[in-house]
Amino acid sequence: MDEMPQRIAPSTDRTAAARLLGCAPHDVGYCPRCQGLTHRYGRHAQIICPACRAAQAPPGEPPASTSTASAQPPNSPRR
Ligand SMILES: [Zn+2]
Repeated sequence: MDEMPQRIAPSTDRTAAARLLGCAPHDVGYCPRCQGLTHRYGRHAQIICPACRAAQAPPGEPPASTSTASAQPPNSPRR
C-alpha cells in the first residue's frame, strides 16, 4: 500500500494542520509549490510540504522521517 502524504488545504484550520504535521500551530505556513499548509517555520521546518516532497522523491526511496521501531527494552526481563 502506498502511503502518500496528503496535501493540507490552505483553508484547513492551523491547529488541525499542526496536529497533522506534528508541529506547533505557529510553525505552520504555506508550501511555495502547492500553497498547501506545511511545517514551514521553526525547528525541523520543511518548507516543501510532505505531499510535494513525496511527489518529487525518486521512486523506491522510503521517506526518512518515521521509523517503525517502537520503544522496546534492549533486554527482555528474565526470571
Ligand atoms: Zn506542497
